[in-house]
Amino acid sequence: MTVVIDCVAIGEELMQEIVKETEDIKKKGITPGIATLLVGEDFGARMYRKQVEKFCEEAGFNYFNENPPADVTEEEVIEIVKKLNNNSAVSGILPLRPFPEQISDSAVISTIDVNKDIDCFHPFNMGKLAMGEATFPPATPSAVIEILERYAREYEKMEPKDFFEGAEIVVVGHSNIVGKPLAYLVLNRNATTTVAHVFTSMKGNLEKHTKGADILIVAAGKADLIGPDQVKEGAIVIDVGINRVKVLDEKGEPVLNDKGKPKTKTVGDVSFDAVKDMAKAITTVPGGVGSVTNRMLMKNALKACKINHGL
Ligand code: NAD
Repeated sequence: MTVVIDCVAIGEELMQEIVKETEDIKKKGITPGIATLLVGEDFGARMYRKQVEKFCEEAGFNYFNENPPADVTEEEVIEIVKKLNNNSAVSGILPLRPFPEQISDSAVISTIDVNKDIDCFHPFNMGKLAMGEATFPPATPSAVIEILERYAREYEKMEPKDFFEGAEIVVVGHSNIVGKPLAYLVLNRNATTTVAHVFTSMKGNLEKHTKGADILIVAAGKADLIGPDQVKEGAIVIDVGINRVKVLDEKGEPVLNDKGKPKTKTVGDVSFDAVKDMAKAITTVPGGVGSVTNRMLMKNALKACKINHGL
C-alpha cells in the first residue's frame, strides 16, 4: 500500500516545537522576529507575506513589514536592509521577490547580514551550503529533507543517515532557490545525486533519469510533467511543484464558476492519481511540501535569533 505522506501533520508537529522553543527564548526577555521586504505590490509576494505574518503571529514572533513603493531607488532599498541588519529585534530578513527592474536582486541580497539571511539567499550562505556547513538551509529544500527524514524513521525504520547514503536521488529542477540547494542537501548526505532540468527534457532524456530514482523530487512548476512512465515502481515521490490549472469536465472542457470564469485548482508537477499506486510513498499538492516550508523558515529564524543574541 502506498504511503501518502501526511505533510500537514509534520507541519503541525513542527509548529508545536517552534511555539515551545519561542516560549523558552521569551523567558530570557528576547522575542524572535522576522522582517519581510516587499518592493511594490506583486500579487504572489503579497500572498507569501500574508502567510509569513500569520505564522509569526501563531508562533509568538514579532513581525516587521517593510513595503516601499515600486518606484523606490536601489539605494533606498539597501538603506532599509541596513536598518533591519542593525535592528536587534529583527532575527531574520526575508526579501520577497520579484523586485522591480531598477532594483538588483544581488545588490539587495548581498547587503543582508549573513546571520539574518534565514532563507539562504546570500552567496556566503549558499557557499556554506555547498560545503555541507549550512547555517540556514533554505526553507523549501529543507522541508523536503525534513519530510524524508521523518518518513525514513516512521515507515522504513531507518536512521536518516542510512536512508540517504547511496540512495539514487533525482531532483528535477535546477533553480537557485529549490533545485540546486536541494541537490546540495542530498549530495551532502551522500546520496547518488542526479539533477535533471528543462534542458534534460528538451533532449528527450528526462525519463531516462527519473526512471532510475529511488527517491524522485520534482520542482519544475509544470503540471503533469511526471506521469507513470517517468517513475520507477516502488519509488518515493516528493512533489514540490505548485501550479494553478483549469478544472476540466469529462469532455475536457473548462468548468465555469458562478461568474462564468473557468474554475481553477492547485496541483503539483506529478500526475498524482496516475502515479500514486506505483509509488512506495508520495506527497500531495496541496497539503504537501508547502505545509512544511514556512515552518522551516521559522526554525531558521529561531536559530538566527539565538546566534544574534549569543544564546
Ligand atoms: P523556477 O521556475 O525558478 O525553476 C523551475 C525549474 O524547473 C528550472 O530549473 C527548470 O530547468 C525546471 N524545468 C522547467 N520545465 C521543465 C521540464 N519540462 N522538464 C524538466 N525540468 C523543467 O521555479 P522554482 O522557484 O524552482 O519552483 C519550482 C516549483 O516549486 C514551482 O512550481 C514553485 O511554485 C514550487 N515551489 C513550491 C514551494 C513549496 O513550498 N511547496 C516553494 C517554492 C517553490
